[in-house]
Amino acid sequence: MGLSRFDTVKHLIVRVEHDSDLITFITSLAKSNGIKAATFTAIGALKHAKIGFYDQEKHEFIEARLSAPQEIASCIGNISVKEGVPFVHAHAVLADQKGDVKAGHLLEGKVFAAEVHITEFAENKLVRKGDAVTGLSLWDL
Ligand code: ZN
Repeated sequence: MGLSRFDTVKHLIVRVEHDSDLITFITSLAKSNGIKAATFTAIGALKHAKIGFYDQEKHEFIEARLSAPQEIASCIGNISVKEGVPFVHAHAVLADQKGDVKAGHLLEGKVFAAEVHITEFAENKLVRKGDAVTGLSLWDL
């Protein structure tokens, strides 16, 4: 187990630009504001999305495209540093017109409208490092 204690430094409330990609938008926001350690939530709606399921044996994402509009019923994530630059990790629960949900690691999400709440931490020590056991880039705590 790795554990670090962080003090919250500020909250950022953001309305995401229409037609932007949610992951790219948050990544750019983190870069331009020097955010290197944070968590976030997002709600809103996507025009379409791509989610992933991590195959734990093959160590690769199995991707699924959701081409219909989706409600962002829930999206949580974090911002840390990978290879020297801010990296966004997000998971989402997305609901279609019938309320049927798909969920997973959010790879892409074309924004119709979205509201993001970022909680930035005072320390800039949240760094990712390759992990041979999982094949993932995990926090180096
Ligand atoms: Zn993930």
